[in-house]
Amino acid sequence: MRLHVADHPLVAHKLTVLRDERTDSPTFRRLVDELVTLLAYEATRDVRVEPYDITTPVAPTTGVRLASPKPLVVPILRAGLGMLDGMTRLLPTAEVGFLGMIRDEETLQASTYATRLPDDLSGRQCYALDPMLATGGTLAAAVQFLAERGATDITAICLLAAPEGMARLEQEVADLGVTLTVVTAALDERLNELGYIVPGLGDAGDRLYGVVG
Ligand code: URA
Repeated sequence: MRLHVADHPLVAHKLTVLRDERTDSPTFRRLVDELVTLLAYEATRDVRVEPYDITTPVAPTTGVRLASPKPLVVPILRAGLGMLDGMTRLLPTAEVGFLGMIRDEETLQASTYATRLPDDLSGRQCYALDPMLATGGTLAAAVQFLAERGATDITAICLLAAPEGMARLEQEVADLGVTLTVVTAALDERLNELGYIVPGLGDAGDRLYGVVG
């Protein structure tokens, strides 16, 4: 498993405002959008392209275009949905699949409640969107789900990651035969006793969409 922490002053600046408890939901949503586009730029460094012949106003030349099958972007519901626009802004021709996962706040176990994904993901580069890599349970379950459908090249884009989640993810994906890269804006200190990332930014879903009972 590879970890890429985006090391850029603009990412750090936007993340600081995002973490601030005084930041309201509309600003939070806009900043998530902007941050994801910056992270997407890093995350797509190895996206597959193929040669493509064009003619400029001056001369014929060979450039590149995204190869087929097109990349698949998979927001993990609910909070991953807040990352979708930022990602597709950079990859407008990607297809989008959905994976609904919910974490039991007592056991911290993740389970699937909704899926809308191609049956066969072999040969597809998959980009999973999940803002908070906390215990790692949700992302590990999502990666396992994608691997069972044949995905072997998965990049997870997270706003924040905790060391505990990284360790669990590494352990749980070790035997799946998947190349997994985690791209994040920061690797935080730790998890607290409630499974929240410290210093973190609180509950990403609640801050994006408000608290739903
Ligand atoms: N999920 C969140 O939204 N925030 C955390 O800190 C951990 C998990």
